[in-house]
Amino acid sequence: MNIEKRFFDTFSIGPDLIAAAPGRVNIIGEHIDYSQGYVLPFAIQDRTYAAVRKRDDNLVRIASLQRKSVVHTYNLEEIRPPMKRGWENYALGVIWALGIDQYITHGVDILIDGQVPLGAGLSSSAALECSVGLGLNTLFDLDHSLEALARIAQSAENDFVGMPCGIMDQSVSLMAKAGFALLLDCRDLTTSHIPFDLAANGLELLVVDTRAHHALVDGGYAARRADCESVARKLGVDSLRDLSMEQIVTQKEKLTEIELIRARHGITEMARVLDSVTALKESNFEQLGRLINLSHASLKDDYAVSCPELDLVVETAQAAGALGARMVGGGFGGSAIALVRAGLAELTSIAIREAFAKSGLKAPRFFPSLPSQGAQII
Ligand code: ADP
Ligand code: MG
Repeated sequence: MNIEKRFFDTFSIGPDLIAAAPGRVNIIGEHIDYSQGYVLPFAIQDRTYAAVRKRDDNLVRIASLQRKSVVHTYNLEEIRPPMKRGWENYALGVIWALGIDQYITHGVDILIDGQVPLGAGLSSSAALECSVGLGLNTLFDLDHSLEALARIAQSAENDFVGMPCGIMDQSVSLMAKAGFALLLDCRDLTTSHIPFDLAANGLELLVVDTRAHHALVDGGYAARRADCESVARKLGVDSLRDLSMEQIVTQKEKLTEIELIRARHGITEMARVLDSVTALKESNFEQLGRLINLSHASLKDDYAVSCPELDLVVETAQAAGALGARMVGGGFGGSAIALVRAGLAELTSIAIREAFAKSGLKAPRFFPSLPSQGAQII
């Protein structure tokens, strides 16, 4: 394999092992992880590879083929937050979260080669963390469960890199099964595999990276989260998970108009995830498509996190015959997904590309995706 040779070129010796972990797409369940809701992601084929080798000393040397293979060198003792910003923090954070001294008792050489497009909303960050996490777990015989590794990878991103992400990306990157989506309950972190065999049903999930990024993102995310927390506080519960629409409506005088509308997204989106699970168990992809469309309408109208580029993808895909389409991720830019018949994927992409050109927008990027296997040692 190429990464083995590149490892040799970089470190003048071969790796002990290579771990691979995929990126992900979330089918439905947006902006509800922080309200203790459910999410339904699957792992894509694209993955990130981490070739690792144990050293005799306490040096950590790390390079990425996506970063010109420049080797960064650290002593194990100096790996603790806060570190100077750099891509390697995603990997150093995993070493730190696994436990230096007690568990990571030796230095390591690590070479990364990622196929997951960076910053396209497909979670290249989790793929990187999970490939390193699984690789070191095996190299040092740490015997962590996949659940524990997901928490370790999340801690690397939250506490070391400084990105307050949930645990969805790491869970699905580690636990996914080919042909299945992963239902994750964000309240108790339990998971179950839900059949999602797109290929067998002649379908594809097209990911469209709009390459738009509206500056509001960070403030917008925090404000939405604060609205949901405020609703829960005012109504005396832990999170939106504990509320029904009926409870919201009967106590609406306690809420601001905006809070009511934001809560409506959270509560109806949780129901849509569970309805999607039912639809998938019945192989009813038309129903799944309808729920995906409703999710977009709710994110756009009630949650107000969409933007013209995302709406253009969704409307164009729907007009081209997609079963469903919606924005994914935080919003205000980033990617959208469209559930399409495999034979129509190409035409749908062309229609979207043309619509973008006609509106004078930067050309979007397309990533077809099928549900694949989670992280593995290869
Ligand atoms: P996403 O996870 O949606 O792709 P993020 O901003 O969360 O976007 O993570 C992207 C960052 O992760 C990159 O900017 C880089 O720092 C790091 N990263 C991911 N994959 C690689 C890789 N193969 N090599 C180096 N850095 C990577
Ligand atoms: Mg990320």
